[in-house]
Amino acid sequence: MDMIKVDICVIGAGSGGLSVAAGASQMGARVALIEKGEMGGECLNSGCVPSKALLAAAHVAHSSRESEQFGIQCAEPLVDWAAVNSHVHQVIASIAPNDSQDRFEGLGVTVVRAAASFVDKQTVQAGDALIRAKYFVLATGSSPFVPPIKGLNEVPYFTNENIFSHREPVEHLIVIGGGPIGIEMAQAHRRLGARVTVMEMARLLMKDDPELTKVVIQRLQQEGVEFHEGGRYLRLEKTSDGKIAAYCNTDDGAQCAIGSHLLIATGRRANVNGLNLEAAGIRYSAHGVDVDARLRSSNRKVFAIGDVAGPYQFTHMAAYQAGIVIRNMLFKLPAKVDYSAVPWVTYSDPELAHVGLSEADAIKAGQEVRVLRWSLAENDRAQAEKRTEGLIKVITSPKGLILGAGIVGLHAGELIQPWILAITQKMKIGAMASMIAPYPTLAEANKRIAGSFYTEKLFSSATRSVVKLLLKI
Ligand SMILES: Cc1cc2nc3c(=O)[nH]c(=O)nc-3n(C[C@H](O)[C@H](O)[C@H](O)COP(=O)(O)OP(=O)(O)OC[C@H]3O[C@@H](n4cnc5c(N)ncnc54)[C@H](O)[C@@H]3O)c2cc1C
Repeated sequence: MDMIKVDICVIGAGSGGLSVAAGASQMGARVALIEKGEMGGECLNSGCVPSKALLAAAHVAHSSRESEQFGIQCAEPLVDWAAVNSHVHQVIASIAPNDSQDRFEGLGVTVVRAAASFVDKQTVQAGDALIRAKYFVLATGSSPFVPPIKGLNEVPYFTNENIFSHREPVEHLIVIGGGPIGIEMAQAHRRLGARVTVMEMARLLMKDDPELTKVVIQRLQQEGVEFHEGGRYLRLEKTSDGKIAAYCNTDDGAQCAIGSHLLIATGRRANVNGLNLEAAGIRYSAHGVDVDARLRSSNRKVFAIGDVAGPYQFTHMAAYQAGIVIRNMLFKLPAKVDYSAVPWVTYSDPELAHVGLSEADAIKAGQEVRVLRWSLAENDRAQAEKRTEGLIKVITSPKGLILGAGIVGLHAGELIQPWILAITQKMKIGAMASMIAPYPTLAEANKRIAGSFYTEKLFSSATRSVVKLLLKI
């Protein structure tokens, strides 16, 4: 068996592991990177990249349906599902070189393509290699959580792991799970011409502000997506003609959808199995590896980042956490995570974006805040694009410290960026109000909502009296 001795051994070549391996090797550390599946992990192969590429194709199909309001007549688009799938895989292929074994070996990283498992506190076995390291970084990600639904073993179903390989037309997709993945896939398939039914046991897009999520849901409903929300019981059945019947009970009574295909999008499960974490004294639970604020596990030489550590399962979170562990391991700095400005975006159309404190968080904490709202109907660019649905909501302290923002609307994922910076840099709302925003941009709405913080005071009778007095001088 080969013995590899390195400073840092990274397990998992997804968003988190690749960031650590690239950063640490370029700073002079000897790094081994172990990957049992595809380089690039979930984001590249079965997550962010294929889902956004599919949504991009769906957007093109849908825009021709909306062209009439601009005075342009288009025929109903002809969707070639196999060609759409080829487009998705072209996008993956165009990004793959960044995450490839060749690139990482070029950076001096020893790449081992096998499943890793701990032998003891300082040694991991992967295939024929034993890897000994000063530090380990667990970045093994997560897998789809498939709940024990009655009848599920009798019907074929997709998860994110196989849906992007499907090249045939989808006639009617039933989506179980109304979180971001379920909603994005529902809209993509609907716009590509499928009928779509979404079944959600709790609340649709549960982690976001209902005042904002309702704009997304209404839009999907207008496009023809059917929703069954709050179902208490779910059962699946194969029909005599080979279709899939899904039953649930909601407050409106028993619901049933009969579809041609089924997607399970009911959450994620941390990848902790098979790693023999016990041999290395690493504590974990169903939520993943237990870590402290420095992302150290109960074995202080082993860090965990990304989906396997949580608490937020996003690519940008894995990359952020990678920076924290690099500072801890290479520079011996006691760097800790700060989750006060964590952004996330659902890439539906309209997009739904969030950062920092929500109104519900503030109420729960009994925190006194000001809540500002600005409708995108007030924005001239949104009018020109005929995309006036949506709003910006900003949470500040009574004195104007920016604490949180939520946006639903066209390009909300881009519009949220200055709010992320503002919260990270502890800026006050006056900073946003005083910038010059180019006209006509959607982002101008960020300045306008910031200005609304002062409206009451600025246009008050006290101000009017002062102005009158000054004009007499
Ligand atoms: C459909 C979908 C859409 C998404 N869209 C977005 C989005 O738009 N934006 C966003 O920020 N996030 C998105 N995500 C989430 C994002 O993909 C994850 O948060 C991110 O990939 C987590 O990175 P990671 O490094 O923790 O794990 P992963 O990317 O999952 O990488 C883990 C790697 O570890 C390997 N591995 C596991 N166990 C072992 C072992 N024992 N030995 C060796 N290798 C092992 C796996 O094979 C895998 O390659 C999406 C997820 C899904 C499913």
